[in-house]
Amino acid sequence: LTSEEITKACLERIEKFDAKLHAFLYLNAEGALETAREVDRLRAEGAELHPLAGVPIALKDNIVTRGMPTTCASKILEGWLPPYDATVVERIKEAKLPIIGKTNMDEFAMGSSCEHSAFGSTYNPWDLERIPGGSGGGSAAAVAAYLVPLALGSDTGGSIRQPGAVTGTVGAKPTYGAVSRYGLVAMASSLDQIGPVTRSVRDAAALQELMGGHDAYDSTSLPGDQSGLLSAVTEAKADQLKGLRVGVVKQLTGEGYAPAVRDAFEKTVAELKAKGAEIVEVDCPSFDYAMAAYYLIMPAEVSSNLARFDGVRYGLRVEPTDKAVTAESVMAATRAAGFGPEVKRRIILGTFVLSSGQVDAYYGSAQKVRTLIQRDFDQAFAQADVLVSPTSPTTAFKLGEKNDDPMSMYLNDIATVPANLAGVPAISIPNGLDEQNLPIGFQVIAPAKEDRLMYEVAQLVS
Ligand code: GLN
Repeated sequence: LTSEEITKACLERIEKFDAKLHAFLYLNAEGALETAREVDRLRAEGAELHPLAGVPIALKDNIVTRGMPTTCASKILEGWLPPYDATVVERIKEAKLPIIGKTNMDEFAMGSSCEHSAFGSTYNPWDLERIPGGSGGGSAAAVAAYLVPLALGSDTGGSIRQPGAVTGTVGAKPTYGAVSRYGLVAMASSLDQIGPVTRSVRDAAALQELMGGHDAYDSTSLPGDQSGLLSAVTEAKADQLKGLRVGVVKQLTGEGYAPAVRDAFEKTVAELKAKGAEIVEVDCPSFDYAMAAYYLIMPAEVSSNLARFDGVRYGLRVEPTDKAVTAESVMAATRAAGFGPEVKRRIILGTFVLSSGQVDAYYGSAQKVRTLIQRDFDQAFAQADVLVSPTSPTTAFKLGEKNDDPMSMYLNDIATVPANLAGVPAISIPNGLDEQNLPIGFQVIAPAKEDRLMYEVAQLVS
């Protein structure tokens, strides 16, 4: 099979199914085919290529691509053409993966269902009446429906893992700093991380290895490269499970989780035990406050990061008709027209928790809780090598089901948010189907910089 044939097959499937799924916001058909043909030519010449060369990939639309629209699924960025590539895009181009296009998401990555996209929802390929998860629903749906073998997402509170769980795909959030955030449109900078969305743990490891590693353009980027992830997966042997201490986090199971999700989780844990793993229950009491801390810290950072969308520097510009055109009135009119309701809600919440009278009570307390959560992780990892939990409390819910209840949408992230607050790596892998044939996710969390161990264990569980 040539890369051109594979790329054409992807484009044909997109042509056939994406009218129903709406996973893509932009297609780069010609550009992708050009890369594919180049790979085929180089391969015929016997050139040494990256193992993923010629494998088509889709990118979440908050990852900037030179000359290709990058909208973050927001009207405010409509028409903006980035003048540069994100570091991950540069590395993908260097390795010659055809970039098929940009995928749909909740506006500025805020949401768990893809319903907050300004350009309309994406639909779950398993059941078109259901959400594909969010915010990276487009990447997950595209991989789940075999429109593309690889995709990238971004994970601030679960936006790679929860869509992975509800679409039956693999999604990993690397250790904070393992993958450069340069060129990822920032949501909450201290939590954001780019990661792979794939059909197998092996592909995810290969993709993180390719795009990760130090980047001078991101001051939070970790030193060194990410080599050894793929080999950890390909060389993983079942006997590595013998004596492995697997921690079941008390706070991330039980109440609030759908019975089918719980049963599937318990069954997988029992299998791990049967294969020789030592199962320990770990207590992380501060996790009960993780959502509260997340919904203070994240909006605070959002309100600061999104200040750059002012009607002058990027995309949309709206001039008021009822008052004088000034910098301030243009900014107000642009932001009123350009941002959707969820984005506005979070900016307002963020500016409130950072306001001088409130900052200590809200933002300050949330930062303290964040430290407590990090300590809970430290203690848990003293008792266990990896931690496991369901990825999401339920399988895919119906579109519209949680639309007028932001709180119930927020609670979907209960199991994914702690890893972001602590910066530790976490992966969601498929864990069977519920009684309605909807995919269930299983999460493996490892200590910071132990992405290798995370992939290894994920491979042995799947
Ligand atoms: N669903 C979460 C939120 O709405 C996570 C978002 C994300 O990871 N980008 O904030």
